[in-house]
Formats: sequence, structure tokens, C-alpha cells
Amino acid sequence: MKYVKTLLLAGLSIPLALSCALADQISSLPTHELEMGCEGQSCEADTDLQQARDYLIKTARPGGTMVRQGPDLAIERLHPEFAKRLAAAIQAARNAGLDEAGIFSAYRPPVFGVGGFADKYYSLHAYGLAVDMYGIGRPGSPEAQQWHEIAAAHGIVCPYGYRSRVEWNHCQPTRLEAVKAENPLRETIAGSGPIDLERMFEVGSRFIANAESTIATVVAERIVRPVNVIRALVHARHQARNSQQAAISIRISSRISRATRLATRQSRLPGKTVQPTRAKLALLTKRPK
Ligand SMILES: [Zn+2]
Repeated sequence: MKYVKTLLLAGLSIPLALSCALADQISSLPTHELEMGCEGQSCEADTDLQQARDYLIKTARPGGTMVRQGPDLAIERLHPEFAKRLAAAIQAARNAGLDEAGIFSAYRPPVFGVGGFADKYYSLHAYGLAVDMYGIGRPGSPEAQQWHEIAAAHGIVCPYGYRSRVEWNHCQPTRLEAVKAENPLRETIAGSGPIDLERMFEVGSRFIANAESTIATVVAERIVRPVNVIRALVHARHQARNSQQAAISIRISSRISRATRLATRQSRLPGKTVQPTRAKLALLTKRPK
């Protein structure tokens, strides 16, 4: 419920009912049998993580790099905290109407040579700290904006903004945009992937932003109005256009009947059988700008 309060304070447009529903969503994920050998809190944590990973796999629309590794491995290599936040965010997004929201691209080793950076070690995908989403609408769409807000409410940043033509669907649990040479994360992977998965996650934890700060970032960077206001504006504009068109057709038909009346009157006058010319009619019925 901490998120709900922050959302309300921030004046975001996510309905309260949705925010309240979020708290219950993770508990509604399918339950799994507990593995033997884990006890108490660590056991619970493992189960939560497994449920989150299962949900991410179930809802994914695997792209080329996921298929190449196998979706299970591509998801398993995502940082555990990130995986849990993502599962909650995707479930919230689907409940809010983004029915096909899911991961398209997850972990990617540098050797695949995929991504926007020339040096593939710069990419957060190589450290399990980034995904590309599917089912969140086109760049700049209300759906994309909706996803960005839901993601932020779950501690996920999509740093390039919902209007970025190429990177609108790239999301991460940190505001770090590139892993430069001096970053300690660099030592945890090789070209083919993690050298030691646990070590990669351990170092990755240092860069994961807390959830409240991700909401603050989205609010601070907000340059357009909330989605529901945009929808209301689009609706109002459609209505205005429709009534404008109705007014134009009324004006045109009244001009036509005026021209017809004039022609009838002229035809009744003795010796005057002049009909309005086509040009005159055209002039009279000329569509106003
Ligand atoms: Zn990406």
C-alpha cells in the first residue's frame, strides 16, 4: 500500500481500485509446491521468485534472443528482485487492459551482438538488469504511457520514455543507462554470459533503485498530461470535428436551396429564362474554410 500513497501524493491518474488490486495480485499467482530443503523466510523468498519467473515465462512473447537461449534461461538470468517487480507490473498491466503485456527480450550475452550499443558490454541486458516489452502499444501511444506509469509504480524505470521510437519498450530496475568499463558489474560476466550468476546478482543489487524513487522519476519527467485526460481531449476533439462537419453540411444545403429558389424565381419572370450557371452554383456552394 506504500505505492498507493505515493501515487496519490504524486497526483498520478492510476485509479485507486487498480492500485489496491495490485497488492493482492502477487498472492493470486499460482501456488507451487514448496521444495524440500528450504525453511522459513528463505523458502518463502524462493517460492516467490519461482512464481514470478513462471509468470514471466508464461506471459512472454519470446523474440529471437530468448528463443536462441531458451526462454527459461533468458528469464532465470534476470536479477531476482527485477523478476519479481516485473511479474507484479505485468500482471497489473494485464488487469488494466494491456492484455498482451509480456517480455519480448530478457537476458542477452554480449556474444549475441544484439542491441543499440556498439560495445555490447554496455548493455544492461548482459547483466540481467533490462528487458524489452511486448504488448504495450506503439511508441507515444496512451498504452505505452500507461505501461510506463504502471512499471514505475512497481519500481521499474523505462529510461528512454514512452515516446522513444526505438527504446520505448526497454525497461530496467535502475536508472543506470550503460555499464561502463570501470563498473564492477563488468567483472561478473564474459562474452558468453555470467561467470558466476550469484555474483552477478549480488553486484547488480547495488544498482537497483528503490521503488518509490522510480515513481518520483516518472512524475518529475512527465511532460504530458495523464492518460485519462488525453483520452478526454481526443474524444472532445472528435466531437468538435463531427459538429463542425454537421455545421458545414447545413451551410452547404442552405446555399443549395437558396440557389434553387433563385433559379425558380428567375424562370418565372417573363422573358427571363436564365438559369444560374454551374460556376455560380459552385461559388454559392463553395465549402467554407
Ligand atoms: Zn532493451
